Amino acid sequence: RLITFEGGEGAGKSTQLSLLAKALKKRGVDVVETREPGGSPGAEAIRALLLDPENKGWPAMTEALLHFAARCDHMSRVVEPALASGKWVLCDRFTDSTMAYQGVAQGLGSSVIEQLSALTLKGRKPDLTIVLDLDPEIGLKRISERGDAPTRYDLMDIAFHRRLREAFLMIVRSDPGRCVVVDATYSEDFVAEMVSGAVTSRLEM
Ligand code: C5P
Repeated sequence: RLITFEGGEGAGKSTQLSLLAKALKKRGVDVVETREPGGSPGAEAIRALLLDPENKGWPAMTEALLHFAARCDHMSRVVEPALASGKWVLCDRFTDSTMAYQGVAQGLGSSVIEQLSALTLKGRKPDLTIVLDLDPEIGLKRISERGDAPTRYDLMDIAFHRRLREAFLMIVRSDPGRCVVVDATYSEDFVAEMVSGAVTSRLEM
């Protein structure tokens, strides 16, 4: 099974991913935790390029191509082999992030992302996508309060983060069989319970 976590900045994707991994391991599931951009040595090298502040302002197409280049490496070297050996893969961000960030919020258009996705993923989709939904003002506040390195995007550009939130919600509406929205305003533990519940019911565990 491939389960992906999506959402805007400060929604709690990484935290929830590791809580779900713990819960699944307790139930005897063999779990691989990974992330995008990155997750394999080649893709982590591309991630470093994407996150380097020196490279801020690259065209959205350049970014989208790099995200898919990274994803291609990550899929063929890490994700597909793990799935083939019966493991469950939990991935922090996946194609939906490229759709939301580069496709919608940065304005590249959804059809470009769909075409790149068709070329590189050949129809492979996550079995379940958890979208952690949060008011971006709260998300950005969480980030600054926990003293994280600032995101790649201007913390003040709230309009960008709102477009991003709408994009994730649009993705859920367009693929309700795969995606589930979880309200990330609640406490870590309560969100984790909702995530676990979604996994149990959607994946018929
Ligand atoms: O997952 P994480 O929040 O650590 O992502 C690292 C950075 O890369 C974030 O600032 C995120 O906004 C950005 N990103 C992006 N386009 C993507 C995926 C992530 O700009 N498709």
